[in-house]
Amino acid sequence: MNQPLAPIRLLDLAAEHAALQPALDDAVRETLAEAAFIQGPAVGQFAAELGAYLGGARVVPCANGTDALTLALLSLDLPAGAEVIVPAFTYVATLEAAALLGLRPVLADVRPDTFNLDPVAVAAALTPRTGAIIAVHLFGQCADLAALGALADRRGVALIEDNAQALGATYRLADGATAYAGTVGTVGTTSFFPSKNLGALGDGGALLTRDPARAALLQQLANHGQSAKYCHQRIGLNSRLDTLQAALLRVKLRQLPANTAARQAVAARYDGALAAVPGLAVPARDPRSSHVFHQYTVTLATPAHRDALRAHLHQHGVPTMVYYPLPVHQQPAYAYLGYRAGQFPVAERLCETVLSLPMHPLLTVEQAEYIGAAVKRF
Ligand SMILES: *Cc1c(COP(=O)(O)O)cnc(C)c1O
Repeated sequence: MNQPLAPIRLLDLAAEHAALQPALDDAVRETLAEAAFIQGPAVGQFAAELGAYLGGARVVPCANGTDALTLALLSLDLPAGAEVIVPAFTYVATLEAAALLGLRPVLADVRPDTFNLDPVAVAAALTPRTGAIIAVHLFGQCADLAALGALADRRGVALIEDNAQALGATYRLADGATAYAGTVGTVGTTSFFPSKNLGALGDGGALLTRDPARAALLQQLANHGQSAKYCHQRIGLNSRLDTLQAALLRVKLRQLPANTAARQAVAARYDGALAAVPGLAVPARDPRSSHVFHQYTVTLATPAHRDALRAHLHQHGVPTMVYYPLPVHQQPAYAYLGYRAGQFPVAERLCETVLSLPMHPLLTVEQAEYIGAAVKRF
């Protein structure tokens, strides 16, 4: 087998940005000339454009995806110590926001096929103290919003969608209508961390909602709880999206639909190459959700298989990553929650058996086929 012409990367932001260089340069130049670095016009323009892309949702930009989670929780006015149900298999930010606000993260296990919150585990974790459920749309596919939304409604608790990884994914609701990820629950959050599907050239984040009153409250909370200049209605955060990042994100947003299609084309190649490989499961699809492939994550039969495949691919010039190597309940910072090893068997097993293959919009079909062939030869 021949080596592919270009080296394979996990991510190729330099090349993605080189293709947009003139427009990015213009955005920087205009921002410097206007010199309205905080809450400049590009912030509102970007929010309106992203909202239009997301089917008319209200978008409230903020400083990063972790702040977006904090702001979403703040907007719910939960009593101190209220419980927030979060998946046991996620990035730590999902718990961190709740913990910092004096709320209690309560973990629920995920499904082994979709990696997303298991509604059966969530139902078992609900108590009279539950204030919110945070569903994470992990790796680019929506969690079971139908079941989680029904549970949240029945118990009168909020459903937050942590949509840092699935911006642009769509979900078919029970009534047959289609909605964008992040706009289905009480409030959605997203991140523009550079490696996300829509990445800034630094930190950024946003809140998504269909409710104008909640959008106004979130806007206030993200700006020191300020309702009018020097009138502070609530204790809020200083969490704003820089004008410069908004201007750059406006350029990158135009590319998002094509980038998503490119990711999906790579995923289809991977599926074709890997569907029949024994001991390896390709990412499961929920027929109600589209998948925007923030990651293409396979599952191996055993931890030893996973580690050996990783080493084999590395030898063949194919970088891979493990998202996430340690479940959140086994992180030292969350030992105080009192969970034991073995309590979330699916999350624990996934940490030992998942492997994410290279996935970015500039990965070529030839590279995807080379990677597929390298996996098959293992
Ligand atoms: C990236 C990410 C976040 C945090 O976003 P930041 O912008 O880095 O603060 C939160 N949740 C999930 C699932 C993420 O992937």
